[in-house]
Amino acid sequence: LEPAYQFMVRVRLAGGVATPEQWLTMDELARTYANETLKLTTRQTFQLHGILKWNMKPVMQEMNDALMDSIAACGDVNRNVMSTANPYQSNVHHEVYQASSALSDHLLPQTRAYHEIWLDEEKIVDSRDTEEPLYGPVYLPRKFKIGFAIPPTNDVDVFSQDIGFIAVVENEQLLGFNIAVGGGLGMTHGDTETYPQLGRVIGFCRPEDVNDVGEKILTIQRDYGNRSVRKNARFKYTVDRLGADVVLQELNERLGFSLEPARDYSFETNGDRYGWVKGDGKWHFNLYIPNGRVKDTEEAQSMTGLREIAKIHNGEFRLTPNQNVIIAGVSQRKKAEINKLLSFYGLTDGTHNSALRQSSMACVAFPTCGLAMAEAERYLPVLIDKLEDVIHEAGLNDEAINIRMTGCPNSCARPTLGEIGFIGKGPGKYNMYLGASHNGDRLNKLYRENIDETEILAELTPMLRNYAKERQPKEAFGDYVIRAGYVTATTSGTNFHD
Ligand code: SF4
Repeated sequence: LEPAYQFMVRVRLAGGVATPEQWLTMDELARTYANETLKLTTRQTFQLHGILKWNMKPVMQEMNDALMDSIAACGDVNRNVMSTANPYQSNVHHEVYQASSALSDHLLPQTRAYHEIWLDEEKIVDSRDTEEPLYGPVYLPRKFKIGFAIPPTNDVDVFSQDIGFIAVVENEQLLGFNIAVGGGLGMTHGDTETYPQLGRVIGFCRPEDVNDVGEKILTIQRDYGNRSVRKNARFKYTVDRLGADVVLQELNERLGFSLEPARDYSFETNGDRYGWVKGDGKWHFNLYIPNGRVKDTEEAQSMTGLREIAKIHNGEFRLTPNQNVIIAGVSQRKKAEINKLLSFYGLTDGTHNSALRQSSMACVAFPTCGLAMAEAERYLPVLIDKLEDVIHEAGLNDEAINIRMTGCPNSCARPTLGEIGFIGKGPGKYNMYLGASHNGDRLNKLYRENIDETEILAELTPMLRNYAKERQPKEAFGDYVIRAGYVTATTSGTNFHD
């Protein structure tokens, strides 16, 4: 008998945009072959967990029938391209989404192996002989991540990406993108040669040059990335080793033209804006999904509710980088129907929660992720229950303090960009980080190492009370902890460990 090996499938879904039909397909696959839940990830896509090996092929085939695949959703290639799920600039959103989707297609590997293995495509040439014009015979040294942000929203955490495209918009027209290079948050505990780093803005390009710019930057990493030490193989280390100015020079040479100087931009937040908003003549509802887990519970039936909404919805679903979902492109008439379904299934914008909970994000970790050292998705809500007592008492209920937790330093939920960040060290033990900015442009700093819940609460309780009393007008928690001297500011990944 073959053991019942279980697998996870991650979809490639550029910009996190899915049609109602695609949502219904994922819903059915989750109930038929997986653990009856859908995980909305921090890179704006779906994950199915617990698929038995012999069910993998029908899952891939049914996804393919709904025009979805999992090509390059993992591996040392360009991963799922992210794009701001911004509901209130919907016209620009569409253009930026199109750019992210086109770049995702442009950077796909050419091999037909996926189609041969999963979709029974006839083998015409040996996949090993397929030429990979971008990736070459040995692909990239490490995974590669790209995100598109539309200021003032930095929900994609654009500086955490290998390449960040920052939309420059004037009079509601998309002029082009500032380009940030060399971000990435993963590191290894106890190895200061590894560190999170933020992308540096090196110039501006026109919308028609996005594919070319993305391609040429990717090939710089292909040619200069560290192929001897895997822990130092990400593009951020290449940029730090060569210098951003040298990368820019190399990029300009490969492009055959020079990037223009970067334009002004300003980010306000890396969080989501919940509830109904109107943009481009349509309504959009950002639904709060705790830690991106779509499932039926006693309080709220998001699995069933979203299925029923998908059956009548004729807009789109936009998965947000904070693991929520926007029911987008809703007409005035449909809005009433959707509101009825939302209320029937207990689905809300989450505003009955503290803003702290709404601004929380955890990775999968135990029991699903083989790399986890500690709980995250199952534990962060429990910790927030306890923190909420302090939050209520201190009058901080409406303060959107951004709190993030991961089970290991791979940092899938971007914990080093949390105003409060936790990274698992062992069962029940976390490193605690403080002092990231509220808009994703400053990393946090290690505050306490290897602490348990009692110690976490003992640290955060007086700190939150002091913040409530001592903060200046509009001062974010991440800025306060630096001013109050709890941590020093991290000005670059290279001084993250100082
Ligand atoms: Fe797994 Fe680590 Fe990623 Fe969490 S951060 S999902 S534990 S790899």
